[in-house]
Parts: sequence; C-alpha cells; structure tokens
Amino acid sequence: MNVRGTRLLKLNKDDSDFQIQLSRWDGQSHFNTSEFRCRCCNTLILHYDLVLALEKLRQYIQKPIVISSGYRCVKHNLAIGGVKNSGHTKGYAADIVKPLDLEMELFRDAIWDSRKETGIVRVGCYNGYQSKHNFCHVGIRRKWVGRNSLLSQRWGNWENKEENG
Ligand SMILES: [Zn+2]
Repeated sequence: MNVRGTRLLKLNKDDSDFQIQLSRWDGQSHFNTSEFRCRCCNTLILHYDLVLALEKLRQYIQKPIVISSGYRCVKHNLAIGGVKNSGHTKGYAADIVKPLDLEMELFRDAIWDSRKETGIVRVGCYNGYQSKHNFCHVGIRRKWVGRNSLLSQRWGNWENKEENG
C-alpha cells in the first residue's frame, strides 16, 4: 500500500502495520499505525493531519508522545463512554499520556500554545487516580475548538468553544 498523498488511512483488523509507509507519509514519523488502532477490534481510521500534529507537538515539547487512545470504532467508543461523534471515531483525535516530569496544567498549556505549529484545535486534559490515566485529548477537527479550563475527575468547561464554529 502506498500512502503517499493519502489524507485518510484505513486499515482492517488483519492488515499489517507499516512503520515504513507511515514514515514516508510524514518524512520521519515516530509513530506506528499500531499505536492508533482501535483497542477492541484492531481496525484503524487515521487522518494524516493528526499524525503530523503529534509529530510537531513532539518537536514542540521535546518529549516522546505516548498514545493511550487513538482510533475508536463506534462500538468501542460507546463502550468506554466516549461522546457521540467523537473525533476518535473519525481519526481526528487522540489521547496522549502526560509525561511524568511535567505538571498537567503545563502540559495542557504547552499543547494549547503549540496550536499554530501543530494545527491542534482542541485540548482537554484529565487527571485520573493513577498516572497512566493522566492524559490529554487532542483534536484537529475544526468543528470542535477549545481548551478545557478545569482539571478534575470530569471534563471541565471548554474555553473558546465557538472559535471557528
Ligand atoms: Zn473497535
């Protein structure tokens, strides 16, 4: 499969991962398609701009980025309580783990501050009980824009929600 020029990548559960092709997709990608696959069924829908955004974010914060949730099929998204029409179900969003050596608020603000470079338009961070549940949702779809203002057990209020519609 040649992904050069492809904007949206779709893989079935039995399709193999291809780091090389993904690398060609974005010059030098640090990500593998396996990191973005649905955790329940191994399928994948992935937008080029999301990989590019995460690649640029990695550069911006100078830290590796660990994806805790990438693509989710509709069934899996429902099962884990994701919002309907979540960017996860369209290959436009990913949850990324907070680096251990960075406060959550700083991590969130760094992501938000990177938006001109990365094209990320939506950031929401979540402090869970365990460090592995500390993550930020990042989205590139312009329909949903904003940064959440409250770091808590629940999603906070979103700022700038109406920017760009
Ligand atoms: Zn699934």
